[in-house]
Order: sequence, then C-alpha cells, then structure tokens
Amino acid sequence: MITSLLIANRGEIACRIIRTARALGIRTVAVYSDADAKALHVRSADEAVHIGPSPARESYLVGDKIIAAAKATSAQAIHPGYGFLSENADFAQAVIDAGLIWVGPRPDSIRAMGLKDAAKKLMKQAGVPTTPGYLGEDQSEARLKAEADAIGYPILIKAVAGGGGKGMRKVDAAEDFAEALASCRREAASSFGNEVVLLEKYITNPRHIEVQVFGDTHGNIVHLFERDCSLQRRHQKVIEEAPAPGMDEATRAAVCTAAVNAAKAVDYVGAGTIEFIADGSEGLRADRIWFMEMNTRLQVEHPVTEEITGVDLVEWQLRVASGEPLPRKQYELSINGHAIEARLYAEDPTKGFLPSTGRLEHFTIPRALGPYRYIAPSTGSLETLDYTGHPRIETGVEQGSEISAYYDPMIAKLIWHANDRREAARGLSNLVRRVEAWPVTTNATFLHALLVNPSFTSGAVHTGLIEQLGEDVVFDLNPSQSLLGLVADALVDDRLPGELTGFRLNAPAQGIVRLMDRKAVYEAALGGPRDAAQTLQHDDWFSLTPNGDSIFAAMQGQTWKFELAAQRGSATGAASDGAIVSPMPGRIIAVTVGQGDAVAKGQKLLTLEAMKMEHSLVAPFDGVVAELNAAEGGQVSEGALLAKIEKVD
Ligand code: ADP
Ligand code: ADP
Ligand code: MG
Repeated sequence: MITSLLIANRGEIACRIIRTARALGIRTVAVYSDADAKALHVRSADEAVHIGPSPARESYLVGDKIIAAAKATSAQAIHPGYGFLSENADFAQAVIDAGLIWVGPRPDSIRAMGLKDAAKKLMKQAGVPTTPGYLGEDQSEARLKAEADAIGYPILIKAVAGGGGKGMRKVDAAEDFAEALASCRREAASSFGNEVVLLEKYITNPRHIEVQVFGDTHGNIVHLFERDCSLQRRHQKVIEEAPAPGMDEATRAAVCTAAVNAAKAVDYVGAGTIEFIADGSEGLRADRIWFMEMNTRLQVEHPVTEEITGVDLVEWQLRVASGEPLPRKQYELSINGHAIEARLYAEDPTKGFLPSTGRLEHFTIPRALGPYRYIAPSTGSLETLDYTGHPRIETGVEQGSEISAYYDPMIAKLIWHANDRREAARGLSNLVRRVEAWPVTTNATFLHALLVNPSFTSGAVHTGLIEQLGEDVVFDLNPSQSLLGLVADALVDDRLPGELTGFRLNAPAQGIVRLMDRKAVYEAALGGPRDAAQTLQHDDWFSLTPNGDSIFAAMQGQTWKFELAAQRGSATGAASDGAIVSPMPGRIIAVTVGQGDAVAKGQKLLTLEAMKMEHSLVAPFDGVVAELNAAEGGQVSEGALLAKIEKVD
C-alpha cells in the first residue's frame, strides 16, 4: 500500500480523500493557492504546499507545480480528485514519468474517452448502444445541417471536448441550426480550445442514468450499480440518487453489463462512470438507454453509491493504485436501501442562480437530526417533533471560511441514506431546510422545495423537471409573521423563546417592533399569538441564534440577520405618544391620509421607500391625524417626525 499521498485538489473532495487516506494510515499532502491559505483541506492534511496565486490556471491547473510539490514532500502518489487535472491525460503521464503513482486510469484510457466522438465510436465497436447521431469528420456547416435534418429535430449539438454541461446546444427546428452551431463552436473554442462538434438525437423525456465501474490492474472489472442524476439545471446535476427510481432488475442488468463492456473496451483501471441517457417516456427500458460519455475519474456524486454498497470508493482507488486486486467480486456487491445527495451551492436561485461570495459569518448544517422545535400550523404554538437520523456531510468550508469567486460555488454535499427512497427524501429534505448561512446565500431553500415536490417524491424525474417546476421551486422566501414575532421577542427580551418561562404565545399583543435585515424593514408583533395562517406551511422548523445586538434567524433553508430598526421609529414609542417617526433614511412614495383625517388602528398612513424596499407606516391606535409633515417624493432622514396621531376620547 502507498504510504504518502498528495491531493491535487481543494474543497470538499480534497477533505474527502484526506479522510480515507488518514484512515488507511497514509500521510497526506495538500496543495493550496493564495485564496485557500486558511482552507479546511489545508488544515486537514499532514502537510501543505503553496502552489501559487488564486486563479486555478496559476495554481491547481499547473501540473509542474503539483509534481514539484509532490517531489518536495516525498509524496509517493497523486490523487487528482475531480475537475481540475483529473481528466488530463498529459498530466497523468507526467506524474508517471516523474516516478510517482497516478491514482487514476492509464493515460491512454483517459485519452480514449476524452473526446465524446472518439468515445462513442469506440463504444459502438464494443457493442454498447449509443445515442443516434452524427460523428463525422466533415465539419462543414452544410454537412452538419444535412445530418441534423436527417436525424430529425430536436437535436443536440455537442462539443466533442465539452464537459460540465458546457458546449451544448439543443436545436428545435431547422431554421435555428446555423445560429446554434456558431454559438456552440464559439463556446467550445473558448472553453475547451476545440471547435469540433457532434450531433445527437435529442432524447425526449430524458433521464440521466450512470453506472459506477471499477477496474484493477489484474484484469477485473466490476460495476457498483447505477445512479440517477436527472435533476439538473442547465445540464448540471443538482440532486443525485442511487438506485434509480423505477429501475427493474432486467433493465439494471442490461445497463450495468453495457457499462462493464464499455470499461473493458478501454482496459479500464480505477474508478470510472459510464453515463447514459434514457428515454423515460414509458419507464426505464433496456432498449431505450444509450451511452453518452465516460468520466474517467471519481464522480462528485460517488457518495450515494458508497452509501448503498458499503464500499469506500476512495479506499478502492488507493488499493488499486497500489497494485492490489479489487476488494470485492461482482457477486459480493449488492444494493442496500436508497441514498440521495443534494449539492449545496453558494448561489442565489432568485437572482438567476448567481454565485454568492463572501465570508461565512454564520454557517451551520446539523450533524444529526434530533428532536426539533417548530411552529405548529393549527395552533401557531411551539411544538417539538421527534425526527432522528444522521446525514453524511461532505464539505470543505466551515463558519468563518471565505467563499471566493475563483472556484466552483459548490460548498457542500448533503447525503441521506435510508431503507427506502421515501425515507431518504424525507431525511434529506429535513436536513437541507436546516442549513443556515449568512451573508452568503445558498440554494438550500430551492433544494428543499425540490425534495418535497410531488414530482420528485413520486419518482417521475427527468432532466427538464427543474425548469418545468419554475416558481414552485425558485421563489423569494419571506420571513413569516410568526418567525418575526419570535425574533422581536428575543431581541427585546434578550432571551430566546425556549428560555422564556411561562411562554407568552397566547398573550395579548404588547406592541409592534420594527426589525430590519439587509433588504427590508418588517413589523413584528411582540408576544403576540403566532398566527397560524401566516406561518408558511406544515411544521415550520426555525432557528434563532443571538449575535450581539442582532440575531440570525433561519427557516426553510433561508437565513436572515435581523436587528431592531431605529428605536425611535419603533411603534413602542409611537404607541404611547402617537409620533410617527421615520425609522431610517428614505423617500416618501405615498401619503394615504390627510391632516385632520380620522384613522383606525393599523391603517396605512404613508409609504416609505428605504433600502430598496417599500415599508408602510401605520396608525398605532384609533385617532386623528393631528400633524402631517410628509409629502410624496420627499426625502426624509432617520428619526424625522412624519406625522402625529392624537387619540380622540
Ligand atoms: P459531469 O462532467 O458529468 O457534469 P460531475 O457532475 O461529476 O460530472 O461534475 C464534475 C465537475 O465539477 C467538473 O467538470 C468541474 O466543472 C466541477 N469541479 C471541478 N473542480 C471542482 C471542485 N474542486 N469543487 C467542486 N466542483 C468542481
Ligand atoms: P458533459 O460532459 O457536459 O457532462 P454530457 O454528454 O454528459 O456532457 O451531457 C450532459 C447532460 O446533457 C446530460 O446529463 C443530459 O441531461 C443532457 N443530454 C446529453 N445528451 C443528451 C441527448 N442526446 N438528449 C437529451 N439530453 C441530453
Ligand atoms: Mg456528463
């Protein structure tokens, strides 16, 4: 067995590899860029070597620096993880030429599978079913167009060197072909330095099914069953699971055998994945599953396979790289239960999934699900639900970490393994909604909405599902009145709800407090009943974390940082003397009452626009407008007296 290993990667995958290496007694060496000097993977390894500036092109993608780091630390082997140099055959060869062990397939296997057209040709020869299409040398626009017409629309144009969902264009009609081809070629040239494309029939109702394969240097090749990665956004995986929902034994046998044949065709050594596209319009059928591509590395979603097979795939990689035979034979592998993985990204789904960067001032993912408090929908009161279980969390960041714009925004993978799919989805959905992150936005609310959506829970998955669900899964989540009330109580009382003796859930309202986060101002009732109608939905888990004068409140995968808005503007003051004071600098956009008008408690007086949000100021009690110092369009400063309400007896 190798005794020392350099991990040529970062983030969660570097941490994941270090964990297994350590368990096997292998000394680990991390590499890092400027941006990652304090990263978790650097601290987790036995040693770490700085390899350059933050951009990956100047650090993680510079093979010579990585090989030099391995030499300098006397590391025996290099594990590339996924992404970066993992599918770079020249780098694999350079590692071997430097006298080091490459934890991965032979460079010629990587090369054979590196270009999608060559790989498909090879697979055809090996008798593996491939998607109908055109793989020809003639790349003239006229020929490609003629081939596309012959295949029949919709078709997919794919860059042969593409990856990670880039370099692909779906074409629905002949007249769109020329423009799609040009734009696909442009992207292919700039991202992969290779303009060659292939054409494929676009499979309707597509499902992404892939098979984990493993080979050793003794000629053994096994499969570790399939994964379903159909939940994708722009051809990128979001949720992955194993086994595939609705896969029967005969179809499984056919697709897994095809995968083993594909691996055999390139004398495959190490961990690999054969990706297939299936026409799921009438369920999964052996005659409607076609080879798409092979990924000659460990896959992001490998944990779901590990969970259902009980195999540590990184351990197998290290054993195979050390020359050992595969630890298990095909007949010793079986499927146990169901596992689902969700990719947690630092991105904002409501802003077009724009990556979100910054320092993780607040970040928690529960390491176990124990009993938890929630706001019951029927009574609005706090209840406790006993749901227990343990997630598997793969992450490369922690509270305090910096999420930079230099690398992939995936910050963690959350995995749940259970006896069946229903339980796995239930556990994982309960976990994702308890993710808390601030000020970085994550896709946790979106993941939660997906995991509880009936189309997902019923197993009717396909690659277009996320787009089809649209606003059902991508929406702005506003804090519920119940949550705001609890936050107000905690900020005013300095105690969390659970700590209050004689909790005042049903006590009469004692006043209105204004809370603000970075986007808006909210009004919250102190000590009021937690109105059921205003809570979001069934068993709303929430969490409150005091932080000086502010509080982190989290609900449904979303986190807010609240503080009391300017005290003088708070209605507690207004409630006694009727002074309506501007809680913050802003602009008056509407005045809905006039001097001398009679107003009822709660009636809107004027609307202020502050921090890009509208915010209405209301009458604290029944009375008349005794003073009005606000005009539409006027700018007001914080604390300005805008109106005065006088009680009428
Ligand atoms: P596929 O290429 O079939 O989409 P995966 O879904 O397994 O395969 O994704 C692998 C992709 O992850 C790489 O192509 C790359 O874009 C991205 N990636 C590369 N390095 C990292 C990293 N350190 N952390 C997260 N993602 C990465
Ligand atoms: P990449 O190297 O970027 O991972 P793939 O060839 O694996 O490229 O395709 C990525 C995704 O695009 C697939 O998971 C699938 O959702 C979709 N896709 C690929 N080929 C087809 C096809 N012929 N018909 C329909 N969808 C496809
Ligand atoms: Mg792929």
